Amino acid sequence: MARQKKRRGSKWTDPGNVKGKKKYRYCKICGSTATQVRIMKHEHICEKCAEEAARKKKGQLACKACGKVVPNQLKKYNGYCKECVCKICGKPDPEYTHKHGVCRECLIKMGTNCLVCGKEAYAQVKKNNGLCDECAAKRNNKGER
Ligand SMILES: [Zn+2]
Ligand SMILES: [Zn+2]
Ligand SMILES: [Zn+2]
Ligand SMILES: [Zn+2]
Repeated sequence: MARQKKRRGSKWTDPGNVKGKKKYRYCKICGSTATQVRIMKHEHICEKCAEEAARKKKGQLACKACGKVVPNQLKKYNGYCKECVCKICGKPDPEYTHKHGVCRECLIKMGTNCLVCGKEAYAQVKKNNGLCDECAAKRNNKGER
């Protein structure tokens, strides 16, 4: 599986250090320029507008579920970011997709991963109705306590 590399710090322009063409970058929402505010490099949205979008979670600039500002992904996934939709069916199910990459239904359909911890354990999951041995044991213990 190809994982996206996490890059830190390089996502924003630095108002105190914009050179050449970067000076002409501006926020596509409020029009602030790169010499005034930090602007998200790929999306051309300033810090303030990004923050506001993240708070509102309208699904136009920021993901409806987690508030991540990724306009390009939102168009593709109906207002959600890539991480909040199921890799298989495309349905948004943030709680599960953040942990497992797929929605609950697909996880069950796949039948190979534990529904609690997400561990791949085909034989165990089959035996314990969707749980790995460890989680099945934990569940049983809970009942007794
Ligand atoms: Zn702005
Ligand atoms: Zn999201
Ligand atoms: Zn799914
Ligand atoms: Zn488990």
